[in-house]
Amino acid sequence: MEPLKTIGRTAPSPPRDEPVVHLKPPVDPATLTYRQLRDGPFWQRIPAYRAIDEATFLDHGWQARNSITSPQKLLAALQDLVPASFHDDVAQGFARAPMAIRVSPYLLSLIDWDDPYGDPLRRQFVPVASRLLPDHPKLTLDSLHEQADAPVPGLTHRYPDKALFLALDTCPVYCRFCTRSYAVGVDTDEVEKVSLKATEDRWARAFRYIGERPELEDIVVSGGDSYQLKARQLSLIGDTLLDIDHIRRIRFATKGPAVMPMKLLTDDEWVDALTRVVEKGRRLHKEVVLHTHFNHPDEITAITRRGLDRLHERGVIVRNQAVLQRGVNDTIDTMQTLVKRLGYCNVQPYYVYVHDLVKGVEDLRTTVQTAVDLEKAVRGVTAGFQTPTFVCDAPGGGGKRVVHSFEHYDRDTGVSVWTAPSVKPGFFLYFDPIDTLAPAYQARWAVPAEQDEMIAQAIAAARAQMAATAHASSVRR
Ligand SMILES: *Cc1c(COP(=O)(O)O)cnc(C)c1O
Ligand code: SF4
Repeated sequence: MEPLKTIGRTAPSPPRDEPVVHLKPPVDPATLTYRQLRDGPFWQRIPAYRAIDEATFLDHGWQARNSITSPQKLLAALQDLVPASFHDDVAQGFARAPMAIRVSPYLLSLIDWDDPYGDPLRRQFVPVASRLLPDHPKLTLDSLHEQADAPVPGLTHRYPDKALFLALDTCPVYCRFCTRSYAVGVDTDEVEKVSLKATEDRWARAFRYIGERPELEDIVVSGGDSYQLKARQLSLIGDTLLDIDHIRRIRFATKGPAVMPMKLLTDDEWVDALTRVVEKGRRLHKEVVLHTHFNHPDEITAITRRGLDRLHERGVIVRNQAVLQRGVNDTIDTMQTLVKRLGYCNVQPYYVYVHDLVKGVEDLRTTVQTAVDLEKAVRGVTAGFQTPTFVCDAPGGGGKRVVHSFEHYDRDTGVSVWTAPSVKPGFFLYFDPIDTLAPAYQARWAVPAEQDEMIAQAIAAARAQMAATAHASSVRR
């Protein structure tokens, strides 16, 4: 205690009436918009929810039962809020979508139906035929090779010490842009899914594999979505993994807080099960956290904040993995607001992914350059540990690579070349959306021989670049 007192006595303290000097211009608190969370009965704007009171709207069971899964249900909910032409566009969009459609009443209520084409949430969850673009010719259904790297169905072991466990194949909502559209959701007219039902036999095989791999320390429990796990199942997975000696870290991945935050307030059984696993982990000196998936600041409301506060009070760490999407979060202002709002709600922004090469959502992808530019704009606005890493999940199984780390990037052809020396040998390619390229390059992508030529050139340029810069590095391969 003594030294502290001494410091207190010697520190110069300004006289009380002397004004504090401000070096920075004043900030009007009203401009700190990331702190202004939507509140009140906003859902009552939707014709079908006009008479829905707060207690009903916050009931996660009501949200699940009333989720929109067809154009007819959407029409029934919105009624005359949008013109008939929009409904036709949606009906055709549903018919052409590779992903099943499921939208919670919560999400539906957050969409600005005065501007349904421009709204960032509508773009993510409700397909409209008139805005679809043809897929990139180099796109394959499982572009990340999750199945090729799966020793057991639904368990992808790509990286040395961590594995991805797809516990089940359903979600509280379905996102148009889902990377796992090869497996997640019910079959659609466009895609027949790989089956990853939540059967405990399949889980037992995955657990056995994990137990037999002492190098594995970190398991991502995903899907599908951990929100869909029954409390009993969540406990079973958590307990089983924690009981494996070499497992040190578990992340439960769920989009839930972003699309149905009320479950955190009203599904006590699920929240208690999660808390118990987190606490058991802590007693074993292991980390159990929640990874969620907010993409736009509009997805974070006062309800979300209350749900996240509840997790925070229980010591549950929450991190966020966002997907960069055109017209959704590809502006500096939106991304900065998202990052700041997440921080304000005690969520750590972990990753922003360049949109994977996924079927039927070419309109949502951006260029790699967009990610590079956003990263520069976001870094510096808040604490470094609250700053997401912008990554490109290299198609072909190279894993996540920092967007600035491409070996070569031809902005004209849109081809970027990546390597992943600690994951997998070889070159990995990402392709910018063709409609963003100059007309001459769009024309080249229409010709298969030209496609091969552009790719071969990009790989040759990457090789040359790596050879030319090797002398500057003391790392020897
Ligand atoms: C993303 C991912 C992980 C986890 O990677 P982190 O970079 O640690 O978040 C693990 N396995 C697979 C297959 C993945 O795609
Ligand atoms: S919640 Fe996740 S797994 Fe489910 S559809 Fe959306 S992105 Fe895919």
